[in-house]
Amino acid sequence: MDEEVVRKYLRAGEIAEKVKARALREVRPGDKILDVVTSLENYIRELGAEPAFPVNISIDNEAAHRTAYIDDVGTVPEESVVKIDIGVHVDGYIADTAITISFSDKYGDLVEATREALDRALKAIKPGIRASDIGAVIEKVIKSRGFKPVRNLSGHSLAEYTIHAGETIPNYRDPLNFNRLTLGSAYAIEPFASTGRGIVHEEKRINIYSIRRYTKCEELPEDQIIKEVFKKVRTLPFSERWFPELIIVVGGVSRLREIFKNLSSSGCLTAYPVLSDTPGSRVAQFEETVLLLKDGSVLVTTQRDVIPT
Ligand code: MN
Ligand code: MN
Repeated sequence: MDEEVVRKYLRAGEIAEKVKARALREVRPGDKILDVVTSLENYIRELGAEPAFPVNISIDNEAAHRTAYIDDVGTVPEESVVKIDIGVHVDGYIADTAITISFSDKYGDLVEATREALDRALKAIKPGIRASDIGAVIEKVIKSRGFKPVRNLSGHSLAEYTIHAGETIPNYRDPLNFNRLTLGSAYAIEPFASTGRGIVHEEKRINIYSIRRYTKCEELPEDQIIKEVFKKVRTLPFSERWFPELIIVVGGVSRLREIFKNLSSSGCLTAYPVLSDTPGSRVAQFEETVLLLKDGSVLVTTQRDVIPT
């Protein structure tokens, strides 16, 4: 990883850290989730970067992939457990980071257990370690606190303009994962702990898509839409909120949603449905992005206090 690339990751991390701090300070029960995500995404842009994906705000048993629709009237519920997941990129180099805020006294332990699992995992990381050994650290902390790690959500390698670059870092000891972390790579580590089953399922709601195949969808009538999306976000995940002009062109947001759905059925887009554990359960998540540098050191780009100045 050359110096210029490291610098871009660090810049993305620094910005993500600021956005995360604002979320912690400002998100409150009663807030409109549309206002929350819009204001955090705008803040990323004000700070000179771009969102690497729509800011996620997943509530209570929702673990991931919820963001606001353009006409969303939803609010942050009282007593809720809220995950804010933020992605920032500088020229395609991505910092991916998440926090959980509990507005209920009942879930302090759940939140702490998840934070501790991440801290211990970050301490264990070194080039050459098995991804499964990091998973084992996460699993042990979460289980010792009486919760379940979410088994079908995982950390991941990152690459230029690519959030999930192929390698996964499980949140439990996975004997089938033989992967080892390599020098010069970027990873997002993201434990999830749950009071439910520790397994998430796909909801019907889809708030987020990304372009899966660009070239092979050229003959479709929706070609122009894919082109517009690619121009703005390439293959990164996006929200309908980012394309107000397309909503007008196609004749309304319901029509645009229909088109996105069809394009994902035909393999041109990837859909990211909201992922939830069982109703009534609560899920917490924390996430940081790390670089394994060539000298063997580990740099957490999204925690400024551990970045050497
Ligand atoms: Mn994330
Ligand atoms: Mn991630």
